[in-house]
Amino acid sequence: MAVQTVGSSTEISLGPAVALSCRECGERFPLGPVFACEACFGPLEIAYDLPGGDPEALRARIEAGPNSIWRYAPLLPVPADVADKPNLNPGFTRLVKADNLARELGVTGQLHVKDDSGNPTHSFKDRVVAIAVEAARAFGFTTLSCSSTGNLAGAVGAAAARAGLRSCVFIPHDLEQGKVVMAAVYGGDLVGIEGTYDDVNRFCSELIGDPLGEGWGFVNVNLRPYYAEGSKTLAYEICEQLGWRLPDQIVVPIASGSQLTKIDKGLRELVALGLVEDRPYKIFGAQAEGCSPVARAFKEGHDVVRPVKPDTIAKSLAIGNPADGPYVLDIARRTGGVVEDVNDEQVVDAIKLLARTEGIFAETAGGVTVGVTRKLIETGALDPSLTTVVLNTGDGLKTLDAVAPTTGPSAIIRPNLDSFREAGLA
Ligand SMILES: *Cc1c(COP(=O)(O)O)cnc(C)c1O
Repeated sequence: MAVQTVGSSTEISLGPAVALSCRECGERFPLGPVFACEACFGPLEIAYDLPGGDPEALRARIEAGPNSIWRYAPLLPVPADVADKPNLNPGFTRLVKADNLARELGVTGQLHVKDDSGNPTHSFKDRVVAIAVEAARAFGFTTLSCSSTGNLAGAVGAAAARAGLRSCVFIPHDLEQGKVVMAAVYGGDLVGIEGTYDDVNRFCSELIGDPLGEGWGFVNVNLRPYYAEGSKTLAYEICEQLGWRLPDQIVVPIASGSQLTKIDKGLRELVALGLVEDRPYKIFGAQAEGCSPVARAFKEGHDVVRPVKPDTIAKSLAIGNPADGPYVLDIARRTGGVVEDVNDEQVVDAIKLLARTEGIFAETAGGVTVGVTRKLIETGALDPSLTTVVLNTGDGLKTLDAVAPTTGPSAIIRPNLDSFREAGLA
């Protein structure tokens, strides 16, 4: 593993973050642009010295903060003055109480959709990138980069533009037009690679170890421990928006699995800090059948995730070899959740169902979570009488191709009343 040191790590100060710690062996390392343990090659994550003391005071401090993820700055690896720096201020997206969808799905408890399509580049990725940008600044990186299934490339391009950094991002060459355009429009370099996301990711790892990649911060590779923490803010927001309460059940999409593991981490932190009352919650994972290595391992009772070659319209989730797969399995099993998958037709149906019932147009990843929620209710794995939160992590405008073939005008008429009458729509 190549370890780059840009600037001196002794000066690094990222709020309450104190060290990197190995998720496998617990070994600690100073904060720096590293992602794997020198001792056992396990993934590194951030260790904190979180604010203790009076939960009421901390809650009040958070509530008085900005309407973005920065209201949780005391719980994130970012400098205290982070909100004053040029950034996209993502987060604090709406939590929609989805009563129409609940009725349609037979949910008698509360059903909420956490709608992250409202972020600046219309996906949840703005959260993780915003944290990675602070790490990149701290480590003196001048180019921001990533391997992406689409949304991340756009989020990095936009964040770099705003932060005044150069960006060069890598994607599989055959992504949806909406994703490609959004990745390119912010003026950074965009490179399409002839291969799958897993090929792109492997390529980026090589680039990090090469002089060609010197001074580059790959948000989801050498900055991954920082990046990943951004997903905790989804857990924080959901609980705050539920009135500082844990949801009973939460349905999360899985690409690499990072988001799901950090949502669990965020929920546990809130309990540990006394910000929410401790009660059981279940985390459910959602994949598309055409790329469901984690769901398959879950169903077969395995601890290891066997890589697959993705073939699904849910391209943002199309990671055949998910880095956090084993941790997702642990969390689903520990909390009493399930990892389930749906096929592409069910994804499209679910996108339309959410749009028709709640006026929320989700990208294919949202179709996956809503479709899986429906399936989990049908199989009895998800209790319809409890409070459930379903994540929509991206905007349907980025994946128009998924619904375009089966969606369109009810009629095309000549501009007169007779013609409209004939259409039978009045
Ligand atoms: C990246 C992404 C996810 C989740 O990714 P993880 O790698 O599992 O953290 C979910 N939804 C969308 C739309 C994404 O772009």
